[in-house]
Amino acid sequence: MKVIKELKSPLNRLFIFETNDGYRVESVFYKGERLCVSSQVGCPVRCLFCASGKNGLKRNLSAEEIFKQYELLKGELPVKGVAIAGIGEPSANADEVLGAIKRFKAEGLKVTVSTTGYPVEGFRKLMRAPHDGLTISVHAIFEEKRRKLFGVSVPLEQVFTEVEEYFKEASSSRRKKFQIGYLLIKGINDSDEDLKALGELAKRCRMTVMLMAYNPVPGTALKGLTDEEYERAFLKLREMGVRVTLSNRFRRDPLGGCGTLTIAREV
Ligand code: SF4
Repeated sequence: MKVIKELKSPLNRLFIFETNDGYRVESVFYKGERLCVSSQVGCPVRCLFCASGKNGLKRNLSAEEIFKQYELLKGELPVKGVAIAGIGEPSANADEVLGAIKRFKAEGLKVTVSTTGYPVEGFRKLMRAPHDGLTISVHAIFEEKRRKLFGVSVPLEQVFTEVEEYFKEASSSRRKKFQIGYLLIKGINDSDEDLKALGELAKRCRMTVMLMAYNPVPGTALKGLTDEEYERAFLKLREMGVRVTLSNRFRRDPLGGCGTLTIAREV
């Protein structure tokens, strides 16, 4: 694997890698200390709002290839932590992701993982992996909306039954490492009813909600919320007594922001 191109914005540095068999994946260095790496070439989940899964899954990355994205850059970047949240669904490649997590930890790095929980067998393994934070990307509570947003998914109730099962055996410090990710899309999952159901889920599981902002992706007619609408959603959850965080500007950057990584960028 090798780096074939670097793109820069005022906030992020995006690196395009080519695998030995000619595929491309991307990593983003953000916040001046974290590297967001890819776990698959493409993605089987094919979320409506994400460029990474547009053409489905080409193949899994090996633990070596996931680690290599860091290894090739560590000499020139002050990487302190890794987010396995780039292209791919980590639960769909859980054994290789687990191998990569162990290698990152051996380097003294903090490691976080983002997953939709699909498939559930891989999700079970990742919950128990030695990560420093796991974001469960929920994005919609009601199943008919989840079917619209995800190409494939595990029913939400099943995902959180698995979480609650794990929480019975986990320490409270471990439980605190779990949060819910929710990407707000105008007119799709931002109604009062949606937010109320989200707040109830977060309270039931005692988890923080990270409210994410939609980054425009070519070929979709989806829209994000205005700043005022976004703040309103934040306040609504806060009023319910839910801990909430908002997307930072690095995640909202057109270059390398959430959902914008692709295996088919023109270079
Ligand atoms: S948001 Fe994540 S799970 Fe969904 S298509 Fe993109 S990379 Fe895959």
